[in-house]
Amino acid sequence: MRDVNKKIDISAVRQKLSILNKQRNSYIFRLTHGKPMVFGLPHEVFRRCGKSNCRCARGERHGPYPALSVNKDGKQKIVMIKKADTLVVLGEANRYRHYQETLAKIRRINKEVDRLLEKVKSTTTRSYP
Ligand SMILES: [Zn+2]
Repeated sequence: MRDVNKKIDISAVRQKLSILNKQRNSYIFRLTHGKPMVFGLPHEVFRRCGKSNCRCARGERHGPYPALSVNKDGKQKIVMIKKADTLVVLGEANRYRHYQETLAKIRRINKEVDRLLEKVKSTTTRSYP
């Protein structure tokens, strides 16, 4: 038998699920209506030129130069971006980063939805006999 508290719980859970679903739908819409991306995250590289009398020899390195941080087989690789490609590639990399962040949000929501549905199951299911 269900008591009053459990009924209130289910209603709150239903409301929570509805909010999570709306949020997830809006994230999914954004991910499926995005512009092209590039595989890699925006990265900045600072360098030394090698001249002994340069400021970089005292620690003030040159840069930042635009680059991509690419994860391949668990290893991080830094790929320099050609000057002529900078605007386009950095835009694509920023969208890629945003995509990854949004995907992580969707996965958190999926876990929460699963947890709540388990809760609903445990409060609405009885053993028989
Ligand atoms: Zn230098």
